[in-house]
Amino acid sequence: MIPFSHTWPYEVIRGDLYVDRCPFCGAERVLLPLKTGELQSIRDGRKHLLVFPCCHGSVKVLDADRDYLLADRKLR
Ligand SMILES: [Zn+2]
Repeated sequence: MIPFSHTWPYEVIRGDLYVDRCPFCGAERVLLPLKTGELQSIRDGRKHLLVFPCCHGSVKVLDADRDYLLADRKLR
């Protein structure tokens, strides 16, 4: 079972991924350097190092569903 504390919601707009708020610095509407195509490889088990452009906070993304990214550490 996935701990809710390790998840973070995202949304897709025209193939780009956004988060409403950065879990590290609180910046709003952050465009992630991650494409929808890469989500599939994450679901297939390939870990992805995600670096937030706003503050260079980084997490490893272990999995993703339609609404949430699953990180290797606590985000909230
Ligand atoms: Zn940030």
